[in-house]
Amino acid sequence: MSKTRIGILGYGNLGRGVELAIRQNEDMELVAVYTRRDPATVTVETPGVAVRSAEQLEAGNEPIDVLILCGGSATDLPAQTPVFAGKYNVIDSFDTHHNIPQHFERVDEAACAAGTVGLISCGWDPGLFSLNRLFGNCFIPEGSDYTFWGRGVSQGHSDALRRIEGVADARQYTVPVEAALEGARSGTHPNFTTREMHTRECWVVLEEGADPAKIEAEIKAMPNYFDEYDVTVNFISQEELDRDHAELPHGGFVLRSGDTAGGHTSVIEYSLKLGSNPEFTASVLVAYARAVARLAAEGQKGAYTVFDIAPAYLSIHDGAYLRSHLL
Ligand code: NAP
Repeated sequence: MSKTRIGILGYGNLGRGVELAIRQNEDMELVAVYTRRDPATVTVETPGVAVRSAEQLEAGNEPIDVLILCGGSATDLPAQTPVFAGKYNVIDSFDTHHNIPQHFERVDEAACAAGTVGLISCGWDPGLFSLNRLFGNCFIPEGSDYTFWGRGVSQGHSDALRRIEGVADARQYTVPVEAALEGARSGTHPNFTTREMHTRECWVVLEEGADPAKIEAEIKAMPNYFDEYDVTVNFISQEELDRDHAELPHGGFVLRSGDTAGGHTSVIEYSLKLGSNPEFTASVLVAYARAVARLAAEGQKGAYTVFDIAPAYLSIHDGAYLRSHLL
C-alpha cells in the first residue's frame, strides 16, 4: 500500500493529536512537523520524524501529499491556509463560524489557481455537527434545530478568564442545561434563550492579593463571553487546577425535531462524548486528509467543506468492503 505522506503545520494540542492519530491509520505516514518556533525547541513524540521550520514549506517542494494545518483559528489559520493552499493540498479546522464563508473564498481562490485541494473547517464543530445539522434539515424539512455543547472545556472562554487582571490561571466548562436538552428531545419544539440552554462553570486560580469578589463580578459581567449565562465561579489553587482540570474533554448534542407530512413527530439526535477534544478532532482531520489526497489524485481542485465529501472517501476500505460490512 502506498502511504499518504502527511505534514503537520503547528505543534500545539491539535498538532500533537494529529501525530498520534496517524499511528491508527496504516495508510498514512507522518513526514515532518513544521513550526514557526525554532525547530530545536520543539520535541515530537515519534522517533525519526523531522521537525522543520515553517519557512521550509514556502518553496512548495516538501515531500508531502497533504499538509494538516493545526494553528489557531483566531489569527493563524486565516493567514496560513490560503498561503499554503497555493502550494500544497491542505486541510484545517477553522472554527470561527461567522468567518467561514470569507475563509472559504480565500482558500478557493488560492487552491483553484494552484490546482490544489483545500478542505476547511473540519473537525466536530464545525465538522461532524455541521453534517448532522445538514442531514436533519434535509430529512425533516419542517422542524427545529438544537445544538448543545459540553460538558467540556472551552479554550476561548478559558483564555478570556486568564486575560483578567488578578487571574493566574483558569479553566472554563460549558455545560448543557438538562431541562433544555430534555425539552429538545421531547419533540415539542420549544424555543430557548441563550441562558436556558447552557451554563458556564469557571475554575480560577488567583494571583496573590487579588480580590475574589471583584474578579467574580468582572467575570459575570464580561460581554459576549459570560453576561448572557448563569455562571458559577470557583476559586482553587494552582495544584488543584493542575490535578483536577488538566484534560480537555468536550462533546455535545445536535438535535432536529419536526413533524412529517402525515403529522407524526420525528427526532434525530447525534451526540459526542470526547475524552480529549484535540485528539478526537485530530482523528477526524486525518480521515478527511485521506479524502483530500483522493480528490487531489483525481485532479480535483479548489476549496471544500465536509458537506462536499462523499463518506466513502474517508475510509481506508474500498467500496466492496464498505458495502458488505457497513451498509
Ligand atoms: P494551541 O495548542 O494553542 O496551538 C496553536 C498553535 O500555537 C500551534 O499550532 C503552535 O504553532 C503554537 N504553539 C503551541 N504551543 C506553543 C508553545 N508552547 N509556545 C509557542 N507556540 C505554541 O491550539 P490547539 O488546541 O492545537 O487548537 C488549534 C485550533 O483548533 C483552535 O484554534 C480551534 O480553532 C481548532 N479546533 C477546531 C475544532 C473543530 O471541531 N473544528 C475542534 C478543536 C479545535 P507553532 O508550532 O507554529 O508555534
